[in-house]
Amino acid sequence: MGRVNFRAKVLTGHLKNHHNPTPYLLLMTRCVNYSPPELSEPPPDFNTKSLRKLLDGDSVDEIDYIFNLMIQSDLFCPGKRGGKVFISPDYNRSMEHQREMTMRRIDYLRERGVFDGWLTRKGPGAELSGFTRIITFGVFDHSLGIKLGVHFSLWGGAIQFMGTKRHHDKWLKPTEAYEVKGCFAMTELGHGSNVRGIETITRYDATTQEFIISTPCESAQKYWIGGAANHATHAVVFSQLNMNGVNQGVHAFIAQIRDTSGNTCPNVRIADCGHKIGLNGVDNGRIWFDNLRIPRENLLNLVADVSPDGQYLSAIKDPDQRFAAFLAPLISGRVTVAAGSMNITKASIAVRYSLSRRAFWVRPNEPEVLLLDYPRHQRRLLPLVAKTYALSFASEYLKKIYAKRTPESVKTVHVVSSALKATLTWHGMRTLQECREACGGQGLKTENHVGHLKSEFDVQLTFEGDNNVLMQQVSKALLKEVLAAKRRNKPVRGLGLEHLNKPAPTIPSCLTSSTLRTTQFQTGIFCLRERDLLHRFETEVSKREAHGECIDSIFTVTYQTAEDLGRAFSDRLILQTFLDIEATVQAGSLKNVLGLMRSIELRPHVLALVTSFGIPDAVLGPIAFNWIDANAWSSVEDNTSLFPFFTTPPDLCLSVPHISRDKDNYRHCCICHPPPSG
Ligand SMILES: Cc1cc2nc3c(=O)[nH]c(=O)nc-3n(C[C@H](O)[C@H](O)[C@H](O)COP(=O)(O)OP(=O)(O)OC[C@H]3O[C@@H](n4cnc5c(N)ncnc54)[C@H](O)[C@@H]3O)c2cc1C
Repeated sequence: MGRVNFRAKVLTGHLKNHHNPTPYLLLMTRCVNYSPPELSEPPPDFNTKSLRKLLDGDSVDEIDYIFNLMIQSDLFCPGKRGGKVFISPDYNRSMEHQREMTMRRIDYLRERGVFDGWLTRKGPGAELSGFTRIITFGVFDHSLGIKLGVHFSLWGGAIQFMGTKRHHDKWLKPTEAYEVKGCFAMTELGHGSNVRGIETITRYDATTQEFIISTPCESAQKYWIGGAANHATHAVVFSQLNMNGVNQGVHAFIAQIRDTSGNTCPNVRIADCGHKIGLNGVDNGRIWFDNLRIPRENLLNLVADVSPDGQYLSAIKDPDQRFAAFLAPLISGRVTVAAGSMNITKASIAVRYSLSRRAFWVRPNEPEVLLLDYPRHQRRLLPLVAKTYALSFASEYLKKIYAKRTPESVKTVHVVSSALKATLTWHGMRTLQECREACGGQGLKTENHVGHLKSEFDVQLTFEGDNNVLMQQVSKALLKEVLAAKRRNKPVRGLGLEHLNKPAPTIPSCLTSSTLRTTQFQTGIFCLRERDLLHRFETEVSKREAHGECIDSIFTVTYQTAEDLGRAFSDRLILQTFLDIEATVQAGSLKNVLGLMRSIELRPHVLALVTSFGIPDAVLGPIAFNWIDANAWSSVEDNTSLFPFFTTPPDLCLSVPHISRDKDNYRHCCICHPPPSG
C-alpha cells in the first residue's frame, strides 16, 4: 500500500508540474555559478607537500624550477582565461610552426643553462636529473620532451653507453651545447620491432680505414627518425656489419647527415615522414645512405671493434649476447617513456572539473548534483587517481634501479622497464580517454589539455618497444628465470619472484571488507595470480616442446598466457613498490590515505590528492578553474584586444625574459615583454 501511495504521489507531482511548470522554470532561470572546489571540499587532512615529496623525491625543486622557467617565457604561449594565465603548446598551428617553436624553446632552455652537465656530469643523481628534465618538459608539451629525449637520451645515451673515451671526448660536450644535434636511426621501413632484421649494410674499407654505409633497398630506408627531417646534424645509425662477406650482426655508427648550415651531406638523402596524428613538434624523417663513408673511429665500439687492418674484435663471441649488449643502452629511453606517461595533469583537470561541474537535480530546491558525487563518476575517476599514484611510485622505483644499475642488475632493469613501460603507457592512454569523456564536451577543446593529448601520447604505446612485444619479452624472461633455478635446483632469486620459493598463499574462505583491505590479502592474491600464470605458461611451453615444436613458434601460440603473465608480474611489482613506499611513512593521516588508495576509498581526499601532484595551475587547462569566466563574453573581448589565446605572435617570440637559476629570483622576473619597437 505504501508503495502505491508513493507512486501516486510521484505521478501527481509530475502532472502538477506538467500543467504548472513555474517551479522548474524558476529553478532553471537561476544562473550557474562557478565555485572553486577548495570552498566546498574538506581541507586536506594530510600534508600535501609530504605526499608530493613521496612522489617526486629529491626532484621537487628541479621540477618547480623548470615549470617556472616555462611559465615565465612568452615562448610558451601564455594566455589569459577566467582571470588566470595558462601556458600551452601550439597544437592549433601548422606542423612547421610547431617544429620551429620546439627548437626555439630548446634554444631558450639551453641559453638558461638547463642542459649544462646533462651528459658530462656523472653518477645516479645526474641520470635522475636527466629523466626529471625530459619528463617535466613533456608535461608542457610531449614534442618538447621527446625532441630532447631523442637528442640527450637516445643519441647522447648511445654515445655514452655504446661508445668509448674517444667518442665521449669528441661528442658529449657539443651535444650538451646543442651544437651537434643528434638523432637515433634504428627503425627502418621494413623492420621496427624486429631490430635484428634491419637491412642497412656497413662494410669496411681497410685501404682508407673507413666504413661505408648503404641502404640496399627501399625497405632499408631509416624511418620515423626523430629530428632527422629538419634539424639533426648527426645520427647514430644501426646497421648490419658485413666484414669480408661475414655478417657480424647489428652495430651502431656515428654518421654526419647535415653540415652546420643545415645542408644535407653528400651521399645522404633525407625526406620528411610528414604530418602525424600528434607529436607534430618533432620532425620525424627518413634517411637513405648512398655508400656514405665514415671514419673507422665512428663505430661505437664498447662491445665490438674493427682494427685498422680490418680484424673484427669482440670479447662477446655469442651473437645473441652481443646483440643484447648492443641494445642495453636503449633502456634509458624506455624508462623515460614509462615515467613520462603518467598524465597526472589530465587526472587533475578532470577531477577539478568534476568538483565544480553539476548536472541534473536529484532533489527539488537543491543544487544540481556535482559530477563527482555520482557514484558512476567516482568509479570512473577515483581508481585512475589511485592507480596513477601507484604507477608513479613504480616509475620512481624504475628510475632509481636504472640510475643505480650494475652489470649484475641490468637484466632486472631490462625486464622491469619493459613491463612498466607497457603498463604505464597503457594506463596513460586509458586515463586520457576516461578523462576526456568525464569532461564531456569541454574535454574535446584543445585548450583544455585533455582530449587532444590522446593523439599526442598515443605513440608511447609503440616507440621505445611496442607494448605487446615488450610484454612477450617479459614473460619469456620470467620463464627463463624459473627454469634456470629449477635446473640448478636452487631457489628463484630476483625480479621479486622469491615468493615462488614459499608455499602458495591461502585465500581466506570468508572475505570480509576488512580482510580485503589488508596488505597481506592484497599481496597474497597478486602473488597467487603470478604464480598460477607462470605455472600455466611453463606447462604449455614444456608440453609443446615435448611434441617437438620449436621454441619460437611455441611463443607465438602461447601469447595469451604470456601477456596475462606479463601483466600479472607488472601488477605485483607495482603493488610491492606501493607497499614499500607506504612502509616508509610514519603512522598518521598520510599513511592512512595511502592505505585508502589501495582500497580506492578516496572521495573526501580527492582534491588534496590531485593538488599533491604539484602541477602548477598555469599548466592545467581553463576547465580546471573558473570555466564560466573563461568562457564569458568578456574573455572573447579580451582575446581580441590581446593576442589570440594559445598562439605566439612572432615578434613576442623573440623577446624572452632572463631568468636566474636562483629559485627565489625567478619569481620576480616579468612575464610579458613588449614587442620590440619598429
Ligand atoms: C612518432 C614516432 C617516432 C619514432 N621515433 C623513432 C626514432 O627516433 N628512432 C627510431 O629508430 N625509431 C623511431 N620510431 C620507430 C618505433 O620505434 C617503431 O615504430 C616501433 O619499434 C614499432 O615498429 P613498427 O612501426 O615497424 O611496427 P611493427 O614492428 O611492424 O609492429 C606492428 C604491429 O605488429 C605487432 N607485432 C610485431 N611483432 C610481433 C610479434 N612477434 N608478436 C605479436 N605481435 C607483433 C606489434 O605489436 C604492432 O602492433 C618512432 C616511431 C614513431 C611512430
